[in-house]
Amino acid sequence: MNSGIPPDAVVGVVGAGTMGSGIAWVAAEAGHEVLVHDSRPDAVESAVAEIGERLDRSVAKGTRTQQQRDDIVARIHRAPDLDTLVPTALIVEAIAEQLEVKQSLFASLESVVADDTILATNTSSLSVTAVAGRLRMPERVVGMHFFNPAPVMPLVEIVVGAASDPAVVDTAYATAAAWGKSPVRCASTPGFIVNRVARPFYSESLRLLAEGIGDAATIDALVTGAGGFRMGPFALMDLVGLDVNLAVTTSVYNQTLDPRFAPNVRQQALVDAGRLGRKTGSGWFSYPGGGEPAPPLPPTAAPHEVLVPSDPRLTKLADRLEAAGVGIVRDADVDFLTVDGVRLMRTDGRSASLANVDRPDPPVILYDLVHDWETASAIAVAAPPWASQDHLQAVGVFQAAGIVVYRVVDIPGLVVARIVAQLASVAADAATEGVATPDDIDTAMRLGTNYPAGPFEWVEALSASDVMSMLINLRWFYGEDRYRTAGALSRSVFDDLPLRRLLQPDPG
Ligand code: NAD
Repeated sequence: MNSGIPPDAVVGVVGAGTMGSGIAWVAAEAGHEVLVHDSRPDAVESAVAEIGERLDRSVAKGTRTQQQRDDIVARIHRAPDLDTLVPTALIVEAIAEQLEVKQSLFASLESVVADDTILATNTSSLSVTAVAGRLRMPERVVGMHFFNPAPVMPLVEIVVGAASDPAVVDTAYATAAAWGKSPVRCASTPGFIVNRVARPFYSESLRLLAEGIGDAATIDALVTGAGGFRMGPFALMDLVGLDVNLAVTTSVYNQTLDPRFAPNVRQQALVDAGRLGRKTGSGWFSYPGGGEPAPPLPPTAAPHEVLVPSDPRLTKLADRLEAAGVGIVRDADVDFLTVDGVRLMRTDGRSASLANVDRPDPPVILYDLVHDWETASAIAVAAPPWASQDHLQAVGVFQAAGIVVYRVVDIPGLVVARIVAQLASVAADAATEGVATPDDIDTAMRLGTNYPAGPFEWVEALSASDVMSMLINLRWFYGEDRYRTAGALSRSVFDDLPLRRLLQPDPG
């Protein structure tokens, strides 16, 4: 079994900026002597000083001992030129994100280091195949894509270029694991895993904003409050920088021409205006402060009769209602959650008007997908325009459980369900195209973006046929290829095979 580079091997890092210094820290903390080279004078000294200061804070907090701090700092050395990197077993490159510059560095490295030194690139958007393209031995190149801040973020995408030697890939993978990281494997394709599969989180939210379902802060409140995501898409764009986010989107879109990744004109306009997010004081929101969601629906009277069908996905809501003292009937003989005679149905990708096209009386009210009823704090509902205030009283069932309710503009798929359906579809296509396995995609999205569940886990919680119905309804409504159903999702439904199994056959 490959256990990575030997524990006493010397590691090289080229580039002592944000990522290079973090990677040097990680390697030194794992016990390696680390040689760091940067073309900027004093860059390595300032990086080591900053690492020392950050470690001082961790000693003060009790996370590390003074001895551990001193050992880490003492293992990081400046490499004045590339020749001094000769004794290394692995070099991780973290310099400027420009193909020509990286290619030229790799050519210089290859001319000085031993033939068995592994050359890894931390590129976040360039092709690993292209970075290795001009080398005598392209098989020694692999991507090791750390996330920022490298000492904290557990995920490392091990990116396999067209020429990468499987043994080199295994060593990079095992080394990342030995350094305490959670590596995943992926093919060198646009955006790798995280920067590709995460695109609909932004693009679908931007689309919802453009269609007027609600303002940015309200969409964020629903994505966090019902979807269980740590941050909403707009607050997150403000945090990483609208320009950085747009550059990734544009890069992935230009390389795939997939309409699901298309850049958004409103975001472009903000970038053009210099409103880049927190770093410029304003983006989607103004800082300090941030966004303020619209007022939710005022509290309604507590419901009299709540019938909960026997559906395991509603058990935690039923528990929460009972804990709040609401009398309910569990396992009632009804198809939908029914409150004082009004049926509440989770969105299936149709608008409320379409779901009520035969004008039932009372109308069916739609609610959004909820990740976890136990912790949900907000939810979107939609009703047809002719629904009365009396009908809308039924949403008091959510309020009685302590969940804030927003009635949103009647747009198909509401908020969380629509974003999740698109994430699932993009993830299924990525796995189909061999970018990564479903397990690795789930791991990458949970660890790299803090999603509450990976896209395949969402499909399992919902059922592939529910996700497929969502996408079919959205595709029908908009007539756009953007909402096409991933082929693997359809196969999973029609062949009655779990999606994960279909895309990741058991090794035996
Ligand atoms: P940075 O600007 O903070 O640091 C880059 C460093 O490389 C600088 O110190 C610069 O002086 C040095 N450098 C540039 N060209 C050089 C050369 N030819 N030889 C030696 N040193 C050189 O950049 P960063 O944010 O650390 O990003 C580095 C790489 O990591 C990029 O490829 C980037 O795409 C990738 N990355 C960045 C992040 C992030 O969040 N910042 C996350 C993952 C990956």
